[in-house]
Amino acid sequence: MRSFPIFVSFDRKPPLVVGGGELAAIKARLLLKRAPSVDIAADHIVPELAELLRVERVAILPPRPGVDQVRGRPLVIAATGDDAEDIRVSAIARALGVPVNVPDRPELCSFAMPAIVDRGEVTVAIGTSGVAPVLAQRLRAWLERELPPRLDALARLAGEFRDAVAKELPAGRSRRKFWEGVFDGAASEAALAGDESEARRLIGEAIEAAVAAAATQGRVLLVGAGPGDPELLTLKAVRALKAADVILYDRLVGTGVLDHARREAELIPVGKAKGGHGVAQETIQQLMVEHARAGKTVARLKGGDPLVFGRAGEELAALREAGIAVEIIPGITAGLAAAASLQIPLTHRDIAHSVTFLSGHEAGNDEPSFVDLDLVALGRGPNTLLVYMGVSTAGLLAGRLLEAGWTPDCPIIAVENASRDDERRFATTLADLAAHPERVQLKSPAVLIFGAVAGLPAAGVVEELLSLPEVRRVYA
Ligand code: SAH
Repeated sequence: MRSFPIFVSFDRKPPLVVGGGELAAIKARLLLKRAPSVDIAADHIVPELAELLRVERVAILPPRPGVDQVRGRPLVIAATGDDAEDIRVSAIARALGVPVNVPDRPELCSFAMPAIVDRGEVTVAIGTSGVAPVLAQRLRAWLERELPPRLDALARLAGEFRDAVAKELPAGRSRRKFWEGVFDGAASEAALAGDESEARRLIGEAIEAAVAAAATQGRVLLVGAGPGDPELLTLKAVRALKAADVILYDRLVGTGVLDHARREAELIPVGKAKGGHGVAQETIQQLMVEHARAGKTVARLKGGDPLVFGRAGEELAALREAGIAVEIIPGITAGLAAAASLQIPLTHRDIAHSVTFLSGHEAGNDEPSFVDLDLVALGRGPNTLLVYMGVSTAGLLAGRLLEAGWTPDCPIIAVENASRDDERRFATTLADLAAHPERVQLKSPAVLIFGAVAGLPAAGVVEELLSLPEVRRVYA
């Protein structure tokens, strides 16, 4: 069976070697290269072991260890030379879930000892799943020859600078590139040639250079602007607006939101109305990259939450591709703002156990994207549909839901301009909406809530979408 390599730590309890012969001595010596101490359970010990005892990192326990001596060990090696005893120790260890190895008896082992190339902090372990131990030895010899002898010094040096680098450079690409530069460059050569002080100087220099480069490179903040009401901005979003040199904002971003921008900030509208010709997505991405490359802090301000129907996937890919640092600041998405304003819950212990965010927009082939969804499955349980970009396709969606078996009197409530001064709400049913889509008075932006929760009492004025305009339901 193929096994999985891991590195075991010995910091809690010493490993246990059972046996006092030469084989046990070899294993104990091997373990002592990494273990602070090793316990040996034996009555007679060979002179090599006695020698190890003098280094005081070995303790002798009585022979024939039982459950209490095995429990909690990082690993156990049974090398007593007595087959029955090895079998007994292996059985105890396995029963306790303690990794056990019996040299040359794979059927008694729960782990195998790899061939090891040891360079201090750097360890290479080679395994062949027991099928070709000699090949493992050859590989080991080859690696011993090929790997620089001072690899350990290089690794220790990297360890020395690890915290400093983590503090100065953000995790991810720039930090990884920094270390790649160190290991491929002059610092590494110096360390491997034995000139550690020169290596140290070069790494210090490289950190300074990387910090300077990072300082001249800008970054992009993908900021959720919320549904419109500036009071619904997060503190982080406000801070981002104050920090931004350039703000690329969507059409749906409320004007009060932009009041938080610095006076000197460059405000660039990039919104596109549905079907209208706004700024192309590629151009938006180019603008973000260009401004960030020029050292600017760019806020990409999006209505609601940037990760809900916000094309953030494409923008993130473009920024990552360009190696530009990105931060995402969540915002209150329109559907949640609508629910809050109506005071209706989207989930409910009794009538709604899931919420589906659904787009009514075309998916690129002139068909609304919900044609690809399993509307039958969505209608099978107590589910709420939260529909974005669905004003012009609402009637079509209602028809498809009826075909999919949704009940005709399923309530629907829609909120136009949620959280804004001109907010309006409308109620109808699936059957009415499907039968009279031409009577829909909704204007974009609006979210529609389909499902039993839409029939719960709503706060404020709700107009009957498909009745005469003067018919209104008013709840206290
Ligand atoms: N990222 C946004 C959604 C962008 S898609 C968010 O999380 O809210 C655009 C759609 O969002 C609109 O078609 C509409 O369905 C919805 N929307 C955005 N703002 C809205 C608002 N104030 N009221 C109602 N719906 C809104």
